[in-house]
Amino acid sequence: MTLYIPDDIVAEIKHTADIVDIVSESVRLKKTGRNYVGLCPFHSEKTPSFTVSADKQIFHCFGCGEGGDVFRFVMKHQGLDFTEAVVTLARRYGVRLPSEGNRSPKDKTMSERQQLRSVNSLAMDFFKSHLREGPGSEKAARYLAGRGISSDVIEEFHLGYAPAGWDNLAGFLAKKGVPLGFAEKAGLVVKKNSGTGYYDRFRDRIIFPIMDISNRVIGFGGRVLDDSLPKYLNSPETPLYHKGRSLYGLSVTKNICRQSGEVFITEGYMDFLALYGSGIKNVVATLGTALTVGHVRALKGFVEKAILVFDSDEAGMKAARRSIDVFNSEKGLSLFILVLPKGHDPDSYVREKGTSAFKELAATAQEPVFFLLESAIRNYGLSVDGKIKTVSEVAEYLAAVEDSVARSLYVKEVAERLGIEERAMLEKVRLAAARQSQQARRRPGGVFEVGGEDNGPDDDVDEVARAYSIEYRMELQIIAMMLHVPEMICEIEEKNVLDFFTNDFLKSIGNIIVTHRAGLENRSADIVELVDNDAGKRIITALFVGDELSNWTEEGCRNLINRFMTSRARRSDNLTQMIKAAEENHDDRLLDELLKAKGAIARQNRMMSAKSSSEL
Ligand SMILES: [Zn+2]
Repeated sequence: MTLYIPDDIVAEIKHTADIVDIVSESVRLKKTGRNYVGLCPFHSEKTPSFTVSADKQIFHCFGCGEGGDVFRFVMKHQGLDFTEAVVTLARRYGVRLPSEGNRSPKDKTMSERQQLRSVNSLAMDFFKSHLREGPGSEKAARYLAGRGISSDVIEEFHLGYAPAGWDNLAGFLAKKGVPLGFAEKAGLVVKKNSGTGYYDRFRDRIIFPIMDISNRVIGFGGRVLDDSLPKYLNSPETPLYHKGRSLYGLSVTKNICRQSGEVFITEGYMDFLALYGSGIKNVVATLGTALTVGHVRALKGFVEKAILVFDSDEAGMKAARRSIDVFNSEKGLSLFILVLPKGHDPDSYVREKGTSAFKELAATAQEPVFFLLESAIRNYGLSVDGKIKTVSEVAEYLAAVEDSVARSLYVKEVAERLGIEERAMLEKVRLAAARQSQQARRRPGGVFEVGGEDNGPDDDVDEVARAYSIEYRMELQIIAMMLHVPEMICEIEEKNVLDFFTNDFLKSIGNIIVTHRAGLENRSADIVELVDNDAGKRIITALFVGDELSNWTEEGCRNLINRFMTSRARRSDNLTQMIKAAEENHDDRLLDELLKAKGAIARQNRMMSAKSSSEL
């Protein structure tokens, strides 16, 4: 942490921020009972297992195990560190952060990501001002006007112009005291091949700043004003900018997307701006890259339906087919494909035919299966041979459709369209499904491989999985009890219950709870902060939101403790033998542990017999 933020400010933000609000900005939540559920933004799923508790102000996903408080969510979701998450939430809720002057000198250094952001924002201002005035600005403005982009849209999306010449931006940044090596890291300048120094990456191009979901500039796209190549040039991957995750325009259109429940996905910013400018505002663009799982995941939080808009040329058709595969691997969004008439892109179509014509056309967008069917028929024709090829292509797709009702409806329609027997089509689908599942079995890694670049270390997954196995169930229940019924912590402590835990990990969590129990009665969710590892945080959040674990009666609590202690005492039958062995081996540490356990068992047995005699 490089920027010092006092604890009381962190606490203030935590108490002001509402996790349901924050999560709702990117995940569509539905209320069920005490909690809210939605599709997890951190793993692929079709049925919601991502749970948010308003009472506890935490989230937990029963699918992938991710969980934590509002800071954790913002960090994980926006790829920020803790300080950045605090700053983001502070801004959002109007909590005042200490000003520059109040920080100690060593805290004045910003994190690299913060520095990259401020360099980007300097560059954005530079490009914007050069669209307003200076050499080439008139030409650039004329170009944008010629493409029908209004001054409002230019303003809203911070469009700019990178003047011709090799070192305009480099010179500007150097004057502002930005080391050019750092500007290179931001992707703004490029090191010269020969000699020393740097030159501007973007020259004589219209500039489209690329924003993150919080509308902070993370990269740039540049388009030439004539026919020179490359037509489009984007920032390289930087610590801030990942093209596989960034969607152009989403920071501006996210609320409109959410309201309409559907989004148009175009292939570039010019198409985006054309649709947006014509009043079709539920739109985003991928940035010179095919649609990725990361894109789909980002959209899942805002819409139920995505309409991919493609040109009808070869490249467009290929991109459409690839996108269908991506959607198949990432569930939770229904996909439609809109192919524009020959010779049109969204920009030309909407400008020539108008907004309502585009909307009418959009209503004819096809489900993937029918898109594949029609494009196969176009390719192969309706001869016997053509039909055979078409059937096998479409069968591949249908085999991957999980919903059996949908699948059988598709089979019926496809068979009808091709004039073949439904049974024959079904048989093809079955064969394709068998082959696919065989391939899936052969693939290493299995389910954890699917879009798993952010799944974190396997240890965490193991830890969560182990915690749910039968053997640890009881210990887990005791931890849950300590969280839900803090009054029982005294008894846990008196009986040294934690000493008998076989899972050291749960034991350490238990000890943290015992140490911090004073605060637990008021804000139990604060305990999440005190556990310093992610696996522990996840277990705790899981226990907090787990409904089946939260109906505690006093009697139930006592029963649990006694059941646990007796099972452990029974296990200690061979304790004496083990102690003897440890003595012979001079294993002092083990001996010490065993003697402690023996003492605890003896105390426990005394207590239990005292209890049972008093009950008589
Ligand atoms: Zn998840």
